[in-house]
Amino acid sequence: MDYAGLVAVYEQLESTSKRLEKTFFIAELLKRTPADDLSRVLLLLQGKVFSAGDERKAGVAAKTVAKTIIRASGSSQQKVEDAWKKTGDLGIAAEQLIGRRLQTTLGSSGRLSVAKVLNTLQKLATMEGHGAVAKKVDLISEVLASASAGEAKYLVRLLLEELRVGAADCTIRDAIVWAFFSKEAHLIYDSGKQAAVVADEHRKEYSQIVDEVQHAYDLANDFGVVAQAAKKGREALSSISLAVGIPLKVMLFQKAKGIADAFSRVGKPAAFEFKYDGFRLNIHKKGKEVTLFTRRLENVTVQFPDIIAAIAEHVHAKDAILDAEVIGIDQATGKWKPFQDISQRIKRKYDIAELVQSVPVMVNVFDILALNGKSMIDSPFSERRKAIEQVVSPASGRLQLAEQIITDSEEAVENFYKKALSLGNEGIMGKNLAAPYKPGSRVGFGVKIKPTLDPLDLVITAATWGEGRRVSWLSSFLLSCRDGNSYREVGRVGTGIKELEGSGVTFQELTTLLKPLIVRESGNAVFLKPRVVVEVAFEEVQKSTAYNSGFALRFPRLLRLREDKPAREAATLAEVKGMYEGQ
Ligand code: AMP
Repeated sequence: MDYAGLVAVYEQLESTSKRLEKTFFIAELLKRTPADDLSRVLLLLQGKVFSAGDERKAGVAAKTVAKTIIRASGSSQQKVEDAWKKTGDLGIAAEQLIGRRLQTTLGSSGRLSVAKVLNTLQKLATMEGHGAVAKKVDLISEVLASASAGEAKYLVRLLLEELRVGAADCTIRDAIVWAFFSKEAHLIYDSGKQAAVVADEHRKEYSQIVDEVQHAYDLANDFGVVAQAAKKGREALSSISLAVGIPLKVMLFQKAKGIADAFSRVGKPAAFEFKYDGFRLNIHKKGKEVTLFTRRLENVTVQFPDIIAAIAEHVHAKDAILDAEVIGIDQATGKWKPFQDISQRIKRKYDIAELVQSVPVMVNVFDILALNGKSMIDSPFSERRKAIEQVVSPASGRLQLAEQIITDSEEAVENFYKKALSLGNEGIMGKNLAAPYKPGSRVGFGVKIKPTLDPLDLVITAATWGEGRRVSWLSSFLLSCRDGNSYREVGRVGTGIKELEGSGVTFQELTTLLKPLIVRESGNAVFLKPRVVVEVAFEEVQKSTAYNSGFALRFPRLLRLREDKPAREAATLAEVKGMYEGQ
């Protein structure tokens, strides 16, 4: 299949934000894609180079890509940099400059296939070591030289892993239904409106097929596999099953406001478990082979020989997929350690044996997704827990089942919650006993309960000017607490993200308030008289060297302006420190 055909669809997807239209464009593409190109097309539609579970890392540094644009377009370095700066998108820069070489920005080269493009992207990932950058530049330049301007634009974005055409998972799922089940699902296409509708009398059938495709995707975690099966029919689709060794997306949890709210969401009675403060790990055991994945589906098997040994010894199943939380253990006291203390174990890839000794960890198993060749994701949680009890034999300080109670009593949960916190846990989880496991979704089959910290009143002591359309507005605000007569920084809130949303305060308003308080400017930073007080919510206080207070607020959010409050009444460093210690 021609790469140009895919590029045309990228352009269509970028031209609309309407989900139905996007679904239609993708469905039409899938219909014309030959079976053996389906996996490639679906990967590239998602801006991916490898499927889940493939450990090779895609992506090329922006500087390397810029070099190839210089070479392929014959433009000077300055020109490429200017175009990059002006558009903020190296893909558009490539389109413009390569378009100039071609004297036209339209049309397709007809020289590149989807297979060629994907193979090139995959080949780049395997180039390492001495001379790799030069080889990458050669290879990319060669492909860019055959590309039209539009083809170059998306090739560059694929190289940078920044496709940004907005093809969400649910859109791709629906497109697979539209493409391959238009008969059973009785869709009425209206290409004039570029959308498809389902005839009323077929709604039930349609949503059933959508569920079947979603279920197949939950199991395979690979749209290529799903589309190939869907092309064959419903039977093929239903024969897709979980593959041990291929990472699945993890189920996510909603936040409950308290114990009563937790019961109202997960039913009564329900299971409650400690919410361990560590990192999530999916454990795939296939015979003697054990593979470990993080919640971001990164393979971390080599980092944890201790966990591999514990699983091999204490999980009595031919094969299994377990969901677990890994925490640190203090060797001397046997007490649990906070996540920050063990985070190095996830990243470190050398001197592992030494780290295993100095930073020991323990696995807390809380779910099971497959056992001895059978998927368990559709079994109720109570049965999954029973299965864990059967196959996992606890090993002191190394492996255990998540501590759990099953109850309908708020009082019992209250006591369990207190116990959890006193042992250093983050809180508790409440789980619906009858619910299945839904990979990748936050459906509310489980909820978390954890203490929220009271907001702090902080002073804005510095800010930075925005960029682009916002150059005349202050857009990022440094927050400080009091320390005697001086102020110490504890965090920063910005705009553009969710941090101002819901506060009713706009950055225009803040700029107007703060401008008269500027005492000094340096670059795009401004330093302010400490006058404006704001109320800030956050997740927790961390130790940090980034700010001169020695602490940093995690995920700070502006709640409101405290015009009623003078800076001298803002929170003190002692209060921040107290919160850190009391967490
Ligand atoms: P949060 O990260 O605040 O959304 O909380 C959910 C996370 O808590 C999960 O992704 C797990 O990493 C972690 N966790 C700790 N203990 C448990 C447990 N018993 N059951 C489920 N998740 C747990």
